[in-house]
Amino acid sequence: MASEKPFDAQVLIIGGGLGGLTLAAICKKTGISYKVLERSKQVSPAGAGISLAPNALRVLDQLGLYSDILEEGQPLRKIQVHRNTTKWSEIDFQWTEQVFGYPVISIERHHFHHLLYNAAGGSEAVLLGADVTDINETGDEKQQGVRVKLADGREFTGEVAVGADGIRSVTRRILARQAGLDSINSIRFTGRVHMSGYTAPIENLGPAELGVGNWLLYDNSILTTWPCKDNRQWFIGVKAAELKQADRSVWKGATRDTINDVYGDHFHPFAKSGHFRDIVNHSERVVASDVFEETDFPSMAYGRVALLGDAAHSMTSFFGQGACQAIEDATELGNVLHSYFINRQTAKDIGAQSPRLEDALGQYCTKREGRAKDLVAFSSNYAKVHMARLPYGLGPLVRKFVYAYMPIWGWRWALEWLYGYQPMVNAVSGLMAFTS
Ligand SMILES: Cc1cc2nc3c(=O)[nH]c(=O)nc-3n(C[C@H](O)[C@H](O)[C@H](O)COP(=O)(O)OP(=O)(O)OC[C@H]3O[C@@H](n4cnc5c(N)ncnc54)[C@H](O)[C@@H]3O)c2cc1C
Repeated sequence: MASEKPFDAQVLIIGGGLGGLTLAAICKKTGISYKVLERSKQVSPAGAGISLAPNALRVLDQLGLYSDILEEGQPLRKIQVHRNTTKWSEIDFQWTEQVFGYPVISIERHHFHHLLYNAAGGSEAVLLGADVTDINETGDEKQQGVRVKLADGREFTGEVAVGADGIRSVTRRILARQAGLDSINSIRFTGRVHMSGYTAPIENLGPAELGVGNWLLYDNSILTTWPCKDNRQWFIGVKAAELKQADRSVWKGATRDTINDVYGDHFHPFAKSGHFRDIVNHSERVVASDVFEETDFPSMAYGRVALLGDAAHSMTSFFGQGACQAIEDATELGNVLHSYFINRQTAKDIGAQSPRLEDALGQYCTKREGRAKDLVAFSSNYAKVHMARLPYGLGPLVRKFVYAYMPIWGWRWALEWLYGYQPMVNAVSGLMAFTS
């Protein structure tokens, strides 16, 4: 489906993160012309690992990435829950594959990013060092489009722009300015900071530990270790920031030592000495970041500009769904854009009235905004349970019930709405057989 107008591309995607690259891969697969404008000069995202759940894996399978993800990732078999040194339970997770067709898979983030980068067309489609600073609608009734400006003065035109530029989205700020709002930046610092790392294989672990995750609920913090390939561990800890407003990046420039200062002496069942520092000292890479969440929801589309992923709805990482939601957004946006371009061509061929892009983007909002809000609320509420912070001092009781006593059917019931929603690229879904 070649662009009929003299635009650089039908779709200009601002940001080559996980959501933007997924949309680009979908455009490539469905014949929509596109260009990704990415500010970074290299394809090297920050971060350590990432967990991909069934709700995102189905479309990644459709895009031909699943065998690579399985090859480089590790399916989750179970999660051990410890309160300080006391083991509360083991939660089975193998049922996700039986029920939803896919397991939860943890994978090294750089590897996954590169898989998407290649599926998105690599250097031919992704322009690195492209720092977007402005977006304007252009043209008359007959030929409407968008003009995207870069910091270095270059300009690109398209029929639609998609802001996939992450939690500090420039696209969102530009839209707010154009709408005459002081700000639609309603992202709140939660007062907590993450630290995260990815280790080399841990040699004291064997086949029994492969695929076993750990949730560790300490008195002053929490820690999760996700099992990766060859018994590598991706760990992520969350702790209250000591200086809430004055210095949010208390772990900026984190090293193994800064992480050990907080977690090193804590118990971890996979550490040879019993202390988490053994695992931290195996790290190949550590990073730190602040935890933000959305407090209000702007629309996910304005005029000829749509938002997806963290640019539209940031959420806490407690249930590991931010990227999965960006992938869901990209799938639904790809579907409405594909239908729009097809319908427009058909209308032109038969001399009927052309469909409106704004209506197509309205359908995208209808499909996605409710679920995004639900996910943000779920992530926020789940964080309260995980950290035992509930009203009336009920936190410890509820947390103990959920982790120590909730039967598997309870987890299945609680996660059906999340993992059971598996959007697919409509234009290619007929090419793939899925059996659950
Ligand atoms: C510690 C941690 C652990 C997490 N774990 C998980 C997990 O297990 N599972 C999960 O699903 N999610 C997880 N998340 C959330 C997930 O990382 C994000 O939700 C996801 O990366 C969002 O994707 P995105 O494409 O919207 O934004 P991003 O991946 O942030 O990409 C935005 C891109 O836009 C680019 N950009 C920014 N501004 C501009 C500009 N002006 N011009 C051009 N380009 C620009 C950036 O350079 C970046 O490449 C985690 C997050 C954290 C912090």
